[in-house]
Amino acid sequence: MATTEANTEINNEPCTCMSPDGLCCGKFLSTWVGIDETNGRFGEVSIRQCHYCKRQWLHYFVEYEHLSQSGRWYRGIIDDEIAQILTQENAAEILSNLEWHFYGGSYFFGKFGRSRGQIYVS
Ligand SMILES: [Zn+2]
Repeated sequence: MATTEANTEINNEPCTCMSPDGLCCGKFLSTWVGIDETNGRFGEVSIRQCHYCKRQWLHYFVEYEHLSQSGRWYRGIIDDEIAQILTQENAAEILSNLEWHFYGGSYFFGKFGRSRGQIYVS
């Protein structure tokens, strides 16, 4: 964890990625992991590395086309060790086992926030 804790703050301010809605377009480098087809859910899995603090976020997005307000995303901080073993199939389990994660999307009525424990992607 030492590497991810090194630059947690910039000018004594928490990095913008530490806000649920703070990791937006152009502020991260995205590495595609794959599509999680478990239970036919087609979750989109990627790693998003913040440009500023270099944190790596495991990002999971899923949406059911036949259901309105089903779009939801989750993201949580992972270290290099977890990044090594991450696959599209174990991504949801890894996110559920992190100390905490952010969530948002139409499924949550456009709200976002921070939570912990099981994520619901099916
Ligand atoms: Zn950051």
